[in-house]
Amino acid sequence: MEERLVSSAEQIEDTGLDRTLRPRRLAEYVGQGRVKENLTIGITAARQRGEALEHVLLYGPPGLGKTTLAHIIGHEMGVNVRITSGPAIERPGDLAAVLTGLQPNDILFIDEVHRLSRVVEEVLYPAMEEFAIDIVIGKGPGARSLRLNLKPFTLIGATTRFAMVSAPLRDRFGLVHRLEFYDAVDLQQIISRSAGILEVDANDDGLAEIARRSRGTPRVANRLLRRVRDYAQVAASGAITKEVALDCLARLEVDTLGLDMVDHQVLRSIVEKFGGGPVGLETIAASISEDSDTVMDVYEPYLLQLGFLERTPRGRVATRLAYEHLGLEYTPGKAPPPSPQLAMDGMESQ
Ligand code: ADP
Repeated sequence: MEERLVSSAEQIEDTGLDRTLRPRRLAEYVGQGRVKENLTIGITAARQRGEALEHVLLYGPPGLGKTTLAHIIGHEMGVNVRITSGPAIERPGDLAAVLTGLQPNDILFIDEVHRLSRVVEEVLYPAMEEFAIDIVIGKGPGARSLRLNLKPFTLIGATTRFAMVSAPLRDRFGLVHRLEFYDAVDLQQIISRSAGILEVDANDDGLAEIARRSRGTPRVANRLLRRVRDYAQVAASGAITKEVALDCLARLEVDTLGLDMVDHQVLRSIVEKFGGGPVGLETIAASISEDSDTVMDVYEPYLLQLGFLERTPRGRVATRLAYEHLGLEYTPGKAPPPSPQLAMDGMESQ
């Protein structure tokens, strides 16, 4: 499927700019007050003792600042940050190589930590607890286990799926924090800073409009800012005003809440094909030709946050708010007559 403008997942166009726009100090990191407070205490105490910070687990939807926070912690601690991900560490040996290369108090950031294999996790436990790994040398009856001491380090794990992190791994993190969606005021502050870095002329009303439609997600806000900047340059005077932002976002088909055509399609199919639900995740995913993991990680969290969807044991249900946003009469359990668009979709597949 084509990349979505309002998707919170990282896209190719983000990679370079995400880095430029990433705040470097905790003080520049907007929002997430409770997380910042706890980290500040932890970092200050660890620095005073000259020790590594406790292991940190960060979870929440993509684009909310987990990687950014890992870099900031490294910067505040004055240590290196080594970045890897669950699926990249295939064998215990891969992990051993990374761990033995760390300097004292360094940070190892493992993204998608819920995707570590069982055997790799087993190596990680003593590493996290005792800063040691057990390596098996040789095979068969002659095999010996050798304990290798590591320098103290901090593991920062990030995941979009807290429930999929195994309990023994979860228990070994001292600081566990969930990142929340940002409100429009915070997002405006974030893109106001970004506009400064990108040297774009933007007024508050223009930025507020972009912030409101950014699905509570800094990555989306920065991406929309770039699109509106291009539009302002080509179709207007170069400055981002409310009119320019509204015009551009309407062309990009991002609605007042930041929902795009795919979100509308998801909600409409639940309402019009399944009487508002409950409907299974797989069925929703199939209706928009996506895999269910992407729907669960990327699309669904914001619809849940808006209160447009509810998760029930029997599947997802569209709420009254969703019907209202779509301009439909609230008739749960009853499928309203299909819209011309969906009727046509149905015919095509017959
Ligand atoms: P995640 O790792 O959760 O997917 P990232 O840390 O990569 O998200 O954040 C995506 C982008 O959003 C970053 O490049 C950064 O510019 C911006 N960002 C995220 N959180 C904040 C924040 N609290 N303050 C300012 N910018 C942020």
